[in-house]
Amino acid sequence: MQIITYPHPTLRRVSKPLRRVDAELRQKIREMFELMYAAKGIGLAANQVDLPLRFFIVNLEAKPEGEELVFINPVISLPRGGSEESEEGCLSLPGLYGPVVRPKQVRINAYSLGGDEIQLDANGLLARCAQHELDHLDGVLFPDRMSATARVDIAEGLDEFEAEFRSRRDTGGVPSDEDISKHWMEWESRYA
Ligand code: ZN
Repeated sequence: MQIITYPHPTLRRVSKPLRRVDAELRQKIREMFELMYAAKGIGLAANQVDLPLRFFIVNLEAKPEGEELVFINPVISLPRGGSEESEEGCLSLPGLYGPVVRPKQVRINAYSLGGDEIQLDANGLLARCAQHELDHLDGVLFPDRMSATARVDIAEGLDEFEAEFRSRRDTGGVPSDEDISKHWMEWESRYA
């Protein structure tokens, strides 16, 4: 398992709701936490490790000592209250950062790994992180949420990721679109 980077097609896939959790998926989720810690991230969506399924993980401390959260089939409702701008980055766009305006407070409804319903009123970093991760599950990346003027600053960085992706594909380092969609169907037929 590895974290895929922009513009891998799975990052644009709208993830399918998860219907069941088994030992293999639990193992994948364990691996996701390890990958996230190694990359010093605080959140990771399933499609960032090429699993087209609707869940994400969070640990705001970015290390095993912190609280490990798993949000399955999450829904976010936007309460009253204002928005704020803050700098975001993404493990699928390493090295790129930019300002994104998001609601300050959100209510998150989801299921835990154990199948319990979770309802959480989040603010601060958790609210921002959850919105960023939920965007991933809908195929949305943080630059999509940046203003056109701010995006100019990272345009060159995005171009470099695209060029690198094309060259890795030319040398067989990335599967074809056809193989990627076969992989999606396989996972979706087992879990979605
Ligand atoms: Zn991200």
